[in-house]
Amino acid sequence: MAIRLYDSLTRDYKVLGQREPGAPPVSKEHPFTFYNCGPTVYGPAHIGNFRTFVVNDVLRRLLILEFGADQVRYVRNVTDVDDKTIRRAREEGRPLAEVTKQWTDKFHADCATLNCLPLDPQFEPTATGNIAEQRRMIEVLMQKGHAYRTSDGSVYFKVASFFGYGELSRLKERELQPGAALLGKPQSADADEKEDGSDFALWKAWKPEDGPVKWPGPAGAADGRPGWHIECSAMSKTLLGETIDLHSGGVDLLFPHHENEIAQSQCCNGVQFSRHWYHSEHLLVDGKKMSKSLGNLYTLDDLSPKHASPADIRFALLAGHPRKQLNFTLDSLHAAKSAVKQIHDLASEITLRAHSSAYPLTVFNQPPHLNSTWGAFGPVRDALCDDLNIPLALGHLFGVRNEDYVRSMVRSSFSVPAKWENDFEGLRKVIFALGIRFTAPQDNLFAVPSDIKLLADKRWAARQAKDFKTADALRKELAAAGWAMLDGKDGYKLEPLKK
Ligand code: AMP
Ligand code: ZN
Repeated sequence: MAIRLYDSLTRDYKVLGQREPGAPPVSKEHPFTFYNCGPTVYGPAHIGNFRTFVVNDVLRRLLILEFGADQVRYVRNVTDVDDKTIRRAREEGRPLAEVTKQWTDKFHADCATLNCLPLDPQFEPTATGNIAEQRRMIEVLMQKGHAYRTSDGSVYFKVASFFGYGELSRLKERELQPGAALLGKPQSADADEKEDGSDFALWKAWKPEDGPVKWPGPAGAADGRPGWHIECSAMSKTLLGETIDLHSGGVDLLFPHHENEIAQSQCCNGVQFSRHWYHSEHLLVDGKKMSKSLGNLYTLDDLSPKHASPADIRFALLAGHPRKQLNFTLDSLHAAKSAVKQIHDLASEITLRAHSSAYPLTVFNQPPHLNSTWGAFGPVRDALCDDLNIPLALGHLFGVRNEDYVRSMVRSSFSVPAKWENDFEGLRKVIFALGIRFTAPQDNLFAVPSDIKLLADKRWAARQAKDFKTADALRKELAAAGWAMLDGKDGYKLEPLKK
């Protein structure tokens, strides 16, 4: 099924992976290439950052389900040198690499806690690990007349040299020309030498406050460090090629970061940079932008395990439409907890019917079979593939548990395993796409032996037929075998009797 996603550049919905005539279709040899701007590592990421990374993780998982794992190549970089990282290292009197390693490790640990799929190290490049590629690109831009050197040895991109500048962020529609108020006045001393206020740094000449942080510059430039934007252009080119299928990030990156990436890449390579641009909206906390001074800035450690399990937090970050702002409150964690419990119960019920002896629910943590069906969960897939409409997908997921479905569960019991097998595989896909992980041992389904299930079915049938004598006798038989049968309105549950 095709995944349709809103494209911030054309302001329209486009099918992912549809390439221009002449370009090879998505295949193992020409995988779908997806670049997601990663974190700046100078402190713990907050839950707003994680909303963006979790949304991108769901998108990556959906691409894997639709194209196949070997046809998706995903890159998420680590920004490990910039003003903020250098300032933090200076304040703490520690080497830059030590500070950024500490926070990269913490970011990885948090991503694992939130059950984001891991990255092959090759596809998590760092800015400092790719200086040569950035230098090369800057040199090409200078040779082609898109960049110039200032007297201190810095290099700037000449915005006026790129006709398409501002298309992504609609600069012209906002009647703002390069150099106008939005872009601000030159801020630092070296910026005074910029030919135009909107020109941006590709290479920053070393300054005393940078301490030991410096690398040899591009030809003709001073020692120093790359500007922020060039790292993504260079690393995406190195790992994914000159034209990629999808580029994403939080909405704040649209301008200037992504606008500048387009300018650098297209002027350097002479071809379209990204076929598709996807921006997810921000997370608010208690209706406000997160900030330390408001006391509403949460990291994962602030919430887990005090307030919620990692699965609950992940669910709370996912619950809204990714292209709409989402308001997070501690109460939303309660709602998430109950939703995760419902998914867990549905998984238990379907597993019980799909398998003659029950599986532990941790089977849902393994990748699903890609060529299986979605069973009763086709509408969930449709909603996810339609602009990643997660709220609609969740509506369908919980809608599956309607009266008819529950009744069909009770009626069929274990007599139509093929249907339940399909639904089991479908639910595995849904749970994989959302990245819900069942962890605690109590989340595991008790293994119910098939003879016990048979007895329970018989008893349920007797009860339905109002043959209470037989039903009672069967209940005793079950109890003697160590099982309690809990009757509900529309079905029953089996639990081992406590010894
Ligand atoms: P940074 O580490 O600041 O470069 O940010 C990493 C990612 O988090 C970027 O894609 C940002 O757009 C995103 N981001 C920052 N603040 C928020 C927020 N409040 N809600 C959602 N995403 C955010
Ligand atoms: Zn980037």
